[in-house]
Amino acid sequence: MSARLYEVQARIAEAVARAGRAPGSVTLVAVSKTHPVEVVREAVDAGQAVFGENRVQEAAAKFPMLRASLGPAHPGLAVHLIGGLQTNKARDAVRLADVIESLDRPRLADALADAASKEGRLPRLLIQVNVGDEPQKAGVPRAEADAFIRDCRARFGGALAGLMCIPPAEGDPALHFDWLAACAAHHGLATVSMGMSGDYECAIAHGATHVRVGSAIFGVRAAAAGSSAGGPA
Ligand SMILES: *Cc1c(COP(=O)(O)O)cnc(C)c1O
Repeated sequence: MSARLYEVQARIAEAVARAGRAPGSVTLVAVSKTHPVEVVREAVDAGQAVFGENRVQEAAAKFPMLRASLGPAHPGLAVHLIGGLQTNKARDAVRLADVIESLDRPRLADALADAASKEGRLPRLLIQVNVGDEPQKAGVPRAEADAFIRDCRARFGGALAGLMCIPPAEGDPALHFDWLAACAAHHGLATVSMGMSGDYECAIAHGATHVRVGSAIFGVRAAAAGSSAGGPA
């Protein structure tokens, strides 16, 4: 696993250099969904600090324990929730996550605002845009993105950090990546989360600040659990 992690880190650094961007300008979110906490621990020992999970319950079972085991001297871990989020999980998500990448509808914004006031903490938030306007996919439709971004900015202020997308599986993702990066820039949002195992170098060439890479690091996931991008949390 650590050899694959180092290879992905090296390919990210090369893609950043090829794009003429500053070293360190892209953060690797290692997507550890479905993999046991021991494997996450190996990645932590290899220097990885930022992880992505798509189910709140799974993240809650893994990360508080892991954090506790690392001790106070450790610089700390960051957990990004990247999967579709049900409103009834909003409170657990707000308690646990450093970043919620899948804010995609007004009712979820309501639930997160409510949870944040009860918990007294608010993770950073990314709005997921359904860049391909695919009916089976989560994310705010492209045409509604501007209005939803403005609403969330008014409501969450600086906690609204950026945008996230999962482009259609078929076809060239570059146009979708360009669209998301331009939309983020238009709204003055710094974070652009896009690119997975198959296309993270392309995403970096087109402006990603965060890439979410799972199988290229941890190997192929079991088919049944959590393998569909953006499955239920
Ligand atoms: C699973 C998942 C990833 C990682 O996918 P890989 O192809 O394994 O790199 C990235 N983003 C989201 C939203 C996911 O659900």
